[in-house]
Amino acid sequence: MSLLVLKFGGTSVATVQAIENVADKVTTEIRKGHKVAVVVSAMAGVTNQLVSWCTEINQIFDPREYDAVVASGEQVTSGLLALALQKRGVPARSWQGWQVPVNTDLVHGKARIESIEGTKLRDSVLNGDVAVIAGFQGIAPDGRIATLGRGGSDTSAVAVAAALRADRCDIYTDVDGVYTADPRIVNRARKQIRISYEEMLELASVGAKVLQTRSVELAMKEKVPVQVLSSFGGGVGSDLSGTIVIEEDKILEQEVVSGVAHSRDEAKVTLRNLPDVPGVAARVFGPLAEAAINVDMIVQNVSPDFKNTDLTFTVPRADLSKTLLVLKDVGKELTGMGVESSADVAKISIVGIGMKSHVGVAQKMFTVLAEKGINIQVITTSEIKVSVLIAEEYTELAVRSLHTAYGLDHGDGKA
Ligand code: ASP
Ligand code: MG
Repeated sequence: MSLLVLKFGGTSVATVQAIENVADKVTTEIRKGHKVAVVVSAMAGVTNQLVSWCTEINQIFDPREYDAVVASGEQVTSGLLALALQKRGVPARSWQGWQVPVNTDLVHGKARIESIEGTKLRDSVLNGDVAVIAGFQGIAPDGRIATLGRGGSDTSAVAVAAALRADRCDIYTDVDGVYTADPRIVNRARKQIRISYEEMLELASVGAKVLQTRSVELAMKEKVPVQVLSSFGGGVGSDLSGTIVIEEDKILEQEVVSGVAHSRDEAKVTLRNLPDVPGVAARVFGPLAEAAINVDMIVQNVSPDFKNTDLTFTVPRADLSKTLLVLKDVGKELTGMGVESSADVAKISIVGIGMKSHVGVAQKMFTVLAEKGINIQVITTSEIKVSVLIAEEYTELAVRSLHTAYGLDHGDGKA
């Protein structure tokens, strides 16, 4: 017997028929003797609809009321799944965030989970009742519903798994695992059998949109084994057919580079003619941070004459116009500053824990791109990741070439 938390995303519960399919999977796990808690998202598209109704009424909405509205999608699916399970003779009960309770902080609309009181829930699950928990929501210190930010039900699931001390958290979604690259671009991409939390975290943060980044951080901190798998195949999580995200030292055969990711969600901004004196970067990035704009890659050039310098950085593409507005204000103080921007860029990243112990990994990336005539505009690195910014039109070529160069193509050595 294992204690499992199963999470089903929006496409997995998109229709009544899909919910029946989910109920079959849960029932299979129960009949195999496992104890199960389920976390559900809203039906696909529902949260978008709810968000747009809020903005239609008031662009600058009160986040407490936004939460009251958008949390309703998960309430519906949790009740429907409980009904579908009961129909199959499986004892099941829905749980809203406040009923568990999932305690969050006060940041309505983008709250963080602070604690989950797991005792009542665990007793109920060990007693054989399936707990069907509404994901994406909790209760804030003001006693009101809080939601966790878009994609937050992944984090709900991992947090519940940690609170229940579950053996595994199976995240059912519309892909059957984490791939070495986006299979829509690289047809020889391979499904990973195991990947470390660290790698998954880097992949999630550079655009492999399988799991919410926060959920991976939490899984890593709480050491919750997570499996990503498809809800559309015939199998269930205990067949272990998806990708397992797990601690690094549990992965015996480590590859130097385990994945190539790309993101078209960035835009590049270049500031010219900045005075080369202390405090300038703070004057530029301070107001951007205040406007909640997440600056990612940054390069500052050495000024040839020690007077003026250029600064290039990236921001989320969706925030580009806001960024330019903020910079207009900054420009009033820093007279002579020129602003250029471009949204036609893509960020390509290679990720792998093996980079910690191998040299020449980044060099290979630069050589491959050079051979294809692809210009690198900005570079950033971490211990297990190298990211480059290139012209968007070369995205596919870059991803495919790197995938081949690092020996990741299906049929190259490993299955
Ligand atoms: N329904 C929420 C959303 O669409 C939460 C989730 O699906 O993870 O963002
Ligand atoms: Mg999701």
